[in-house]
Amino acid sequence: MTKKVLKFGGTSVGSIQRIIHASKIIKNEHDKGNKILVVVSAMAGTTNNLVAHSESISKKFNKRELDVLLTSGEQVTSALMAGALNQLGVKAKSWMNWQIPIITEGENTNARIIRIITENVNKYLDSGGVAVIPGFQGVSKLGDITSIGRGGSDATAVAIAKIFQTDSCEIYTDVDGVYSSDPNKIPLAKKIDKISYEEMLELSSLGAKVMQSSAVQTAMMNNIPIQVKSTFTERKGTEINNNDIIDYSKAVTGVAYSKDDAKITLLGVEDKPGVAADIFEPLSNNQINVDMVIQNISTDGKKTDVTFTIKRQDSKNAISLIKANKKIKYENIYMNDKVSKISIVGAGMVATPGVTYKMFRSLSEEKINLLAISTSEIKISVIIDEKSTISAVKKLHKTFNLD
Ligand code: ADP
Ligand code: ASP
Ligand code: MG
Repeated sequence: MTKKVLKFGGTSVGSIQRIIHASKIIKNEHDKGNKILVVVSAMAGTTNNLVAHSESISKKFNKRELDVLLTSGEQVTSALMAGALNQLGVKAKSWMNWQIPIITEGENTNARIIRIITENVNKYLDSGGVAVIPGFQGVSKLGDITSIGRGGSDATAVAIAKIFQTDSCEIYTDVDGVYSSDPNKIPLAKKIDKISYEEMLELSSLGAKVMQSSAVQTAMMNNIPIQVKSTFTERKGTEINNNDIIDYSKAVTGVAYSKDDAKITLLGVEDKPGVAADIFEPLSNNQINVDMVIQNISTDGKKTDVTFTIKRQDSKNAISLIKANKKIKYENIYMNDKVSKISIVGAGMVATPGVTYKMFRSLSEEKINLLAISTSEIKISVIIDEKSTISAVKKLHKTFNLD
């Protein structure tokens, strides 16, 4: 007998019709004699609407209350899914995070699952029932409801797969797998049959929201294979696993992009030892992560320019921290949040010379200016003007033969 996690994302449970459709997929798997743990997201758009409600009261809405609010979407779909299964004659029951419980650690809105008590759910599975579990939710040791970050139902699914030691973890979504780029924006994108954890982790943390990056990280650390597949077609999906055999013939596996960065430039910064630390220390003390940093070499040895990127949501806070920072002297400060980050990812990059220059050359052919660059062994990211996002992704897709 096989034990499976089947996770259905927001669009897959986006209407009553779709919940009924998904319940039939679950019934089919259950009829084969499998033990099934279902993880559901909130109906598409629900979590965003709840965020908007909280923001219309305050942009700094109490985080404990925000979690009570945001996780309600998953409660609704869990009950509807269990009810839809009952309607099909399948024994099924919903379990809220605190009933299982799914215990988390860390601050509200960004908690991490650390423990799941399996006993009661396992008994229920043994009795032939399907357990329907809300994604995204947890409960702290103090008994407060928590949430585990946007897109977090993927992480719930992987944590359940790990702790219940299931044989598979299937992520049902609105596309039929992981593509070389977002198939909804780049029609020529190609489906990837198999992808390594490392490459998937880069792609998802660089903007491919088809899998949440912390879910991929947990899967990678625990060697849990994941299948990403469509709720709406029967086509074969993508396997994310420990790909020992890297296809070195292909330098680039995918192109990702995100529009949540901002670039800050300090002009005419006094150039002396410790200046970079003085700029970045207050940012780090305020939980602002700095991504790319570029410092020009000054010609006179006295002044330099420092450019760096951060998350767009942190830009106002970062500017005020820099302006209030008495330790640094500079002539001017600029912020640009109309930028996007374009990244190429591929494990074969290490063994293929010339990838970097090819990327830069092809963007220059499109007259796209590079505002910042960062590289690692298996990815190259550039910051560009937001207007050119899709043309840059299309061009790179073509340059690296991904069309
Ligand atoms: P779910 O609600 O099922 O969790 P998401 O909206 O979080 O689904 O993720 C699926 C979406 O991810 C797709 O609709 C697609 O637009 C987007 N996406 C971005 N990059 C990729 C990629 N490389 N491959 C597949 N989908 C991608
Ligand atoms: N409903 C949550 C969100 O929209 C979690 C998820 O869908 O994975 O972020
Ligand atoms: Mg998602």
